[in-house]
Amino acid sequence: MGVPVIELRGLARTYPGPPPVAALRPADLVIYAGDYVAVTGPSGSGKSTLLHLLGLLDTPTGGSYLLDGTDTAGLGDADRSGLRGARIGVVFQAFHLLPYRTALENVLLAQLYNQTPRPARLPAAAAALDAVGLGHRLDALPTTLSGGECQRVAIARALVNSPALLLCDEPTGNLDSVSAATVMNLLDQLNAAGYTIVIITHDPAVAGHARRAIAISDGVLSERTGLSERTGLSEATGLSDRTEAGRG
Ligand code: ADP
Repeated sequence: MGVPVIELRGLARTYPGPPPVAALRPADLVIYAGDYVAVTGPSGSGKSTLLHLLGLLDTPTGGSYLLDGTDTAGLGDADRSGLRGARIGVVFQAFHLLPYRTALENVLLAQLYNQTPRPARLPAAAAALDAVGLGHRLDALPTTLSGGECQRVAIARALVNSPALLLCDEPTGNLDSVSAATVMNLLDQLNAAGYTIVIITHDPAVAGHARRAIAISDGVLSERTGLSERTGLSEATGLSDRTEAGRG
């Protein structure tokens, strides 16, 4: 077995009503270091709810979530933010870059609240941009970059703190097909280098890049193993194809 990065035990989220909405029903799921996971589901199925929980942007109403071995229940706001900044890199559909900051500055800002010693930050940011193929555009403003390049800056920003988990929310949703293919190839390469990646998407072409397919429907998670469709995900994960590679 690999090293768990995410362990969900009965994790649930009900929005208070009236009437209450059970947006995520009690879910068990283990995601291991080196996994490449797509979560797909139609609009209203609970994808954003799961994304917010996994990204420590929301708190569950039931169950537990261990991230990289840390039980996130009972963490105060500051500790949750600290854990998120240190262990999770998030890539959003809309990039969320600061428009008047260069690519390098956008990546540098992600290191503001972590432990990276000051003199190491600039080389780390430059190296992250180099790793996504933008080593020659360090001083470019986002307004002068293509959508695909902006998303690669956002990926560099997500990677710069060597996260345990790269969490992607519709990462190609704002891109043309050529840029989308470039971004997905980059994510494939990052996974091959050992990064643990979870992509939330409604796009089957994007989901096709992952090696584990999890569907969400009416707040219920189920995993496709190729043999059968299952619930009780902790069992199903034992069958999935995955590497046990460490993080790159
Ligand atoms: P998706 O991202 O797949 O479109 P969501 O996670 O946004 O799905 O929503 C799942 C369900 O929870 C939907 O029925 C939605 O209407 C409901 N929901 C989402 N956010 C809230 C909220 N803040 N309050 C009440 N209901 C919500």
